[in-house]
Amino acid sequence: MRYSQFYAPTLKEAPGDADVPSQELLIRAGFIRKIAAGVYTYLPLGRKVLLKIERIVREEMDNIGANEILMPIVQPAELWKQSGRWDDYGPEMMKLKDRHGRDFTLGPTHEELVTFLVQNELNSYRQLPITLYQMANKYRDEIRPRFGVLRAREFIMKDGYSFHDSWESLDETYQAHRRAYSRIMERVGLEYAMVEASSGTIGGNESHEFVAFADTGESNILFCDCGYAGSDERVPYKGEIKYDDDEMKGIERVYTPNVKTAQDVADFLNVSIRKIVKTLIYKGRNGYFMALVPGDRELNEEKLKAFLDDQSLVFATPEEIFENFGVPIGFLGPVGTKGIRIIADHMIKGMRNFIVGGMEKDYHFVNVNVDRDFRVDEWADLVVTTKGDPCPVCGKPLNMKRGIELGHIFKLGTKYSQAMGTKYMDKDGQLKPFIMGCYGWGVSRTMGAVVEQLYDEKGIIWPLSIAPFTTIITPVSNNESLMNFAEKLYEFLNGKGEEVLLDDRNISPGMKFNDADLIGIPFRITVGKALNEGKVEIKWRTGQQYKIEADVEKIYAFLQDSKSKYNPHNKA
Ligand SMILES: [Zn+2]
Repeated sequence: MRYSQFYAPTLKEAPGDADVPSQELLIRAGFIRKIAAGVYTYLPLGRKVLLKIERIVREEMDNIGANEILMPIVQPAELWKQSGRWDDYGPEMMKLKDRHGRDFTLGPTHEELVTFLVQNELNSYRQLPITLYQMANKYRDEIRPRFGVLRAREFIMKDGYSFHDSWESLDETYQAHRRAYSRIMERVGLEYAMVEASSGTIGGNESHEFVAFADTGESNILFCDCGYAGSDERVPYKGEIKYDDDEMKGIERVYTPNVKTAQDVADFLNVSIRKIVKTLIYKGRNGYFMALVPGDRELNEEKLKAFLDDQSLVFATPEEIFENFGVPIGFLGPVGTKGIRIIADHMIKGMRNFIVGGMEKDYHFVNVNVDRDFRVDEWADLVVTTKGDPCPVCGKPLNMKRGIELGHIFKLGTKYSQAMGTKYMDKDGQLKPFIMGCYGWGVSRTMGAVVEQLYDEKGIIWPLSIAPFTTIITPVSNNESLMNFAEKLYEFLNGKGEEVLLDDRNISPGMKFNDADLIGIPFRITVGKALNEGKVEIKWRTGQQYKIEADVEKIYAFLQDSKSKYNPHNKA
């Protein structure tokens, strides 16, 4: 490709709303353009990288005997009603009506469609196991689309589904995916971990996440020396409940003007935040309920959803809270409330004389005690487990790293086949629901994750496997002899099947170098002054510099050797 014909507009300035390095760099370097919040166009550079990621994922899927299909994005509501997820999926689902008023969704995932597909096609145990997958756009109406392609509303995902007549057979396919996903991570050049995970809206039993390390990631991975690793959405809190043996004091209502957070209350009353109990209101399938957690802990929504088996749960808005309970959000509390279900974290069992909101603006209750002052309907593990908490396996303090979830595999079991009546005939002529697995991989997100791990102050540093070009040839001027050699080298390398960009633009060498670094092409061949001594300069994006003979065969051989040694994680 000649740069003069290539559509790759780079920007000097970062876009104002870019909030992570990958978003800033992918926009500045001309890989993506934002159309709306969480909706992007992929420019030629971005499209090239995506195609390479897709090819790696496809090869690994084909290697384990999975079959590629392509399902529609527009999905009829009926199928989602059969599985129960039309109402259950929550506000992330984009819904629309056709001209006849019939309901559809822009598919956030495809379990319903694939189950419907096989309903009349897979009839016998003799046809099993079968794995189907696709790579297609998905839609999720994220409440806060951000971080560029890392949390977009429209994105490309590989989703696969397997059908089995036994749990043993499902386990074989599940393990094959574990291996395939590890290979994908390695091939795209990412440092990663595989962790035990929550199954989110999918349901089912065993589940693992593949998480690429990145400081800007939204997943927290908890580790232990004993080998345990889990997503913080999933890790149970196994600390002992500390029973406070203070005498119960008399409950009092105190004036606490203008406090907003638990920390404000603690500061205002001059007590430790451990004396506070936070009250949160959630809205689920069956209306509102209260969740209570200690003041110094965060509530884990995934645990709450799992405990209530209600994926539609959302945090009530301040307006909803005010309308239903008549108090601003910072003054909620369980004392004196009637007709609302109260779920509390186990740790509160051990607390004495604590502080809760007064259910009236600018007031709190102090010296509150469970049972005496309010009832708890259910106790549960509701808190986010974090760094320093005990490992659920061995009890040692956990370590934490941040990461970006790219792959997620689940053993679904019969959840969808049961709900949708999708059955096969077993050996004894009995009709049984399929045992299913499902396997997701974020294709467009992978592009963002790689940039989060591989960049410097000059720009992106692509691994060879997914770089848009392996090599850029940079003649430093339009001088005829320089251009002649650059052209000859370009034709030669192209003929050898190398992916080369020839920077034939009529701009300064400095600008050419800056763009090459920003785009992140692994090898830059500079055709400049050194040509007078019969040499060209080759610079790796990781910083290593070489001067070699200006001979097309020798340059080609040098590039082959460089490819075997290039590691984007190892800078010179
Ligand atoms: Zn451990």
